[in-house]
Amino acid sequence: MAQVFCIANQKGGVGKTTTAVNLSAALALRGRRVLLIDLDPQGNGTMGCGIDKREVDGSVYELLLGTKHFSEVVRRAETGFDVLPANRELSGAEVELVGLKERDVRLKNALAPVLDQYDYVLIDCPPSLSMLTLNALCAADGVIIPMQCEYFALEGLTDLVGSVRRVHSDKNAGLRIISILRVMFDPRITLQQQVSEQLKKHFGDKVFNTIIPRNVRLAEAPSYGQPGVIYDRSSKGAKAYTAFADELLERMEPKTGR
Ligand code: ADP
Ligand code: MG
Repeated sequence: MAQVFCIANQKGGVGKTTTAVNLSAALALRGRRVLLIDLDPQGNGTMGCGIDKREVDGSVYELLLGTKHFSEVVRRAETGFDVLPANRELSGAEVELVGLKERDVRLKNALAPVLDQYDYVLIDCPPSLSMLTLNALCAADGVIIPMQCEYFALEGLTDLVGSVRRVHSDKNAGLRIISILRVMFDPRITLQQQVSEQLKKHFGDKVFNTIIPRNVRLAEAPSYGQPGVIYDRSSKGAKAYTAFADELLERMEPKTGR
């Protein structure tokens, strides 16, 4: 049975998609069966896996509305894992879901029959605490929060942790925060080091040891339709995401190891 993790942070441009795509690729390289779900209408995760969001014949949108089956919309990326693509259509789902029954568990219900086909399902969330993100939180066992070590980042984190707590108590008792991941880190900036220390103090071992540095190869990779860990394996960014995947595996599969 797959472990389902959503990559969430209500701020945009904080590295959610980069984390989702690279973690998917790194886990696949370690032999795990991975499904990446793009739940952002911007479709950056889809494009970053080499799938043209404008050409897809069906997306996670149809799956949520129940007009297509999983097998009709899932795609195998050249990157070695499966992708449920997204595109602009998905922005309509926000409004359309409101009128439907069980609107916050549509994704959970759609995934239930296929969970035994994967080891890890990763959900790339949109930058909001919307109905789409709520669907991700209801479908997930855990939340991975990428964050930049900046002053306002901590403020945003409080809101997100609040949402996770609410979903945990009202809708999904299995939900927990798996990891807070420091991304786009620049050790030369004193404030970043201070915020990083504060995070450790406040959240303890929820803050993973691995730190993702700011690295231009990670930023270039999407324009080649590849995760950074495949585009340039030897780059600092690729090595960091591989180390993050290994740290996650160590915590999730302590007995079997890698
Ligand atoms: P989000 O999904 O939270 O909006 P993205 O993952 O799309 O954020 O990242 C925002 C931008 O920052 C993108 O252009 C991405 O390529 C770039 N980026 C993300 N992580 C890094 C990193 N570690 N180093 C350099 N650039 C990064
Ligand atoms: Mg994104």
